[in-house]
Amino acid sequence: MKPAPFGYERPRDLQAALAVLNQVSDSAKIIAGGQSLGPMLNLRLVEPQLIVDITGLAELKQAERRGDELVLGACVTHADIEDGRTADVTRGAMQRVAANIAYRAVRNRGTVGGSLSHADPAADWVSALAALGAKLTLRSSAGARAVAMEDFVVGALECALRAGEIIETVHVPARPASAHWGYAKSCRKTGEFAHAIGAVLIDPSARTARIVIGAIDAAPIVITDAMELFGGRIGGDYKDRFDTRVADAILAKAGVSNAAQRHIHASVLKRAVCEAAA
Ligand SMILES: Cc1cc2nc3c(=O)[nH]c(=O)nc-3n(C[C@H](O)[C@H](O)[C@H](O)COP(=O)(O)OP(=O)(O)OC[C@H]3O[C@@H](n4cnc5c(N)ncnc54)[C@H](O)[C@@H]3O)c2cc1C
Repeated sequence: MKPAPFGYERPRDLQAALAVLNQVSDSAKIIAGGQSLGPMLNLRLVEPQLIVDITGLAELKQAERRGDELVLGACVTHADIEDGRTADVTRGAMQRVAANIAYRAVRNRGTVGGSLSHADPAADWVSALAALGAKLTLRSSAGARAVAMEDFVVGALECALRAGEIIETVHVPARPASAHWGYAKSCRKTGEFAHAIGAVLIDPSARTARIVIGAIDAAPIVITDAMELFGGRIGGDYKDRFDTRVADAILAKAGVSNAAQRHIHASVLKRAVCEAAA
């Protein structure tokens, strides 16, 4: 199938893009890498009157370290991160996540902002950036606002973007020297979307943990107070105290009714915990 006819604009800068989106937000769609929007257009799942191409916006391609955080423009690609063209504030965590997204051809074009906006529950950045405690700057012609990753994805393919708004930047806090990272996913074959994701950032010294269970056909489960998963204490031997029964109960409460699926999610999360502890 071919897309329905649409108009095409390639604004010269962010202000111009926001002005266009402000005028026609109801009937326009942004295109970044086109890796999700392209198929959706071809299948006529979306039929926008206008496509606003943001790939030429230099403001959205920048990546720089500012103090204790990495500020990534929304059009930074997965390959930019995989290849180390962005500063590494997470001690390799983001690079490894990027390198395992789909195939190289997809990573060359797919962008961080596009992946988050599309809000596929199985998308790697949706879970990984929530676990890393990232925040987003969303901008419209009316101004900017900050949204924490855990508040951004509100359901499967649903996010907090308002009409005329664009993801401008992603702010990733530096991973503390004492914080351990683990990321695991289960896919039918390499390069395919995951059907279970576990992402953990555990700091035994600070006794804190951020745990994300992703790819659950809904917004990811983000657990910021993870004590109960570790028998009430986040300490040095947390791997041995990880309780899959608690993970199972959290998944059941979140609406994952199939026991086999809960088992896969809890097992993948345990793999992420073990990786963090290794
Ligand atoms: C075969 C295949 C396998 C894949 N496997 C994986 C995988 O294993 N893991 C994974 O995480 N991803 C996977 N993907 C998705 C891919 O990684 C892309 O990140 C994703 O498709 C969207 O990024 P994009 O830049 O191409 O966005 P686009 O397709 O251009 O846009 C997607 C959506 O986001 C909106 N949008 C884009 N940028 C912005 C912005 N800055 N602000 C507001 N809205 C915006 C668009 O309007 C559209 O609604 C796969 C894709 C393909 C084709």
